[in-house]
Amino acid sequence: MTEGVNVSAAGNQRGSLRLSDLQGRDDRGLVCRKCGCRHFYTIYTRAKPGCILRLKECRHCGQRMVTRERAG
Ligand SMILES: [Zn+2]
Repeated sequence: MTEGVNVSAAGNQRGSLRLSDLQGRDDRGLVCRKCGCRHFYTIYTRAKPGCILRLKECRHCGQRMVTRERAG
């Protein structure tokens, strides 16, 4: 969507989160691995037995990632 936003440099500086922390958990603390943005649109949700999958899209750069949340 909006390109040219000067967030990519700042996002890459953050080294406190590992990629493994960004997936397979609830979306609190979810950070775009591409630009470091924390704001996502949920564009798809799918309930599965025992968990909920959500496809999220970064509002800044459009990076998509899937999160898995425990249901119940
Ligand atoms: Zn992003």
